[in-house]
Amino acid sequence: MSGEHEATPWPTGDMAGLQFVAPGRAEWMRVPVPEERAGQVLVEVERLGICGTDEHLFSGHSAYIRSGLTTYPFQPGHEFVGRVVAVAPGVRSVAVGDRVVGEPFLPCLACPVCRSGAINLCPNRAEQGVRGNVPGAAARYVRTPAANLAVVPEGVGPDAAVLAEPSVTALGALEAIAVMPGDEVAVIGTGTIGLLVVQIASALGARVTAVGIDEHGLARAEECGAIAVARPEEAPGDRFDATVEASGASPALLTASRITGPGGRIAQVGIPGGADVPVDGSSIVAKGLTITGVLGGVSHLSRAVGLIAAGVIRPELLIRHVIGWEEAPDAFGVPAGEAKPKVLVDLSALAALSGDGAADHAAGAGAERGAA
Ligand SMILES: [Zn+2]
Ligand SMILES: [Zn+2]
Repeated sequence: MSGEHEATPWPTGDMAGLQFVAPGRAEWMRVPVPEERAGQVLVEVERLGICGTDEHLFSGHSAYIRSGLTTYPFQPGHEFVGRVVAVAPGVRSVAVGDRVVGEPFLPCLACPVCRSGAINLCPNRAEQGVRGNVPGAAARYVRTPAANLAVVPEGVGPDAAVLAEPSVTALGALEAIAVMPGDEVAVIGTGTIGLLVVQIASALGARVTAVGIDEHGLARAEECGAIAVARPEEAPGDRFDATVEASGASPALLTASRITGPGGRIAQVGIPGGADVPVDGSSIVAKGLTITGVLGGVSHLSRAVGLIAAGVIRPELLIRHVIGWEEAPDAFGVPAGEAKPKVLVDLSALAALSGDGAADHAAGAGAERGAA
């Protein structure tokens, strides 16, 4: 939380913004700096995280693209950290100069779902950079509601801080299955979310078994705190008090219902690519399993930042590399292979150049790509 601040002029003009222009095509372009709006903040972006959601939006396989909720061209980017450069009058929760992380949900705050508190599930919501064509953070500046931001303490650098947004989902999963110290917890999937769940659940005192098909990912899960690892077919049946399914693999919910014990809880976090996934209904009934879908989380962003600052969440175990903005158009849809799952984009060079210069430079890069 920050104190009083002097009014700072809200930047205007053009800036560099990365656009998804068609399936499989991203280009830097000149876009307008977002205008001042009540309750909102302008953030100069330092780092952008790339995740599976971005890759599905880039390829066109995203359900939001297929349903028309999001249409090309649009500006992606929902995992970001940056410095506040301007705030609308009356904003007090953040101040110019603060390093902040954001979360992308823009709920309507008026519908029955929002009034119930589940604002991340609002049917009318936009998601910045993801759903509803609200510009994301793949740009020099991103405008976002002050309420969506958490201040990053000194001592937490931008690479680490950008992991706060995916950590919200990991915390949402652990909240859904109400993990207690000593619980036997299975985590299916060794991507970013799965490994974050392993880290946090282990710190909570759960006994975590990582389940996956990638031996490098399983080794990484052990670094993150898992006491055991198993391939899906080798994981013991009826063993776990709770299971987090973070892979999105089609047969993974079958595995989850097989390995979770009577009365157990399952959090489905991974989004299966196909519409239909096999489900073992008789096991679910016979064992009285509870399966909860998890889409992000509410009120976990500051908690996530605190866990990064405290060293409970260790982003360095997840970050493959940090690329420059010039490489960003080619960075979506590159499989991790044996590497760590998380790729970050350093956008601070856009800020170091003068506004028009950065935009010109970026537009030039886009034009070169277009001509190639
Ligand atoms: Zn993401
Ligand atoms: Zn709503």
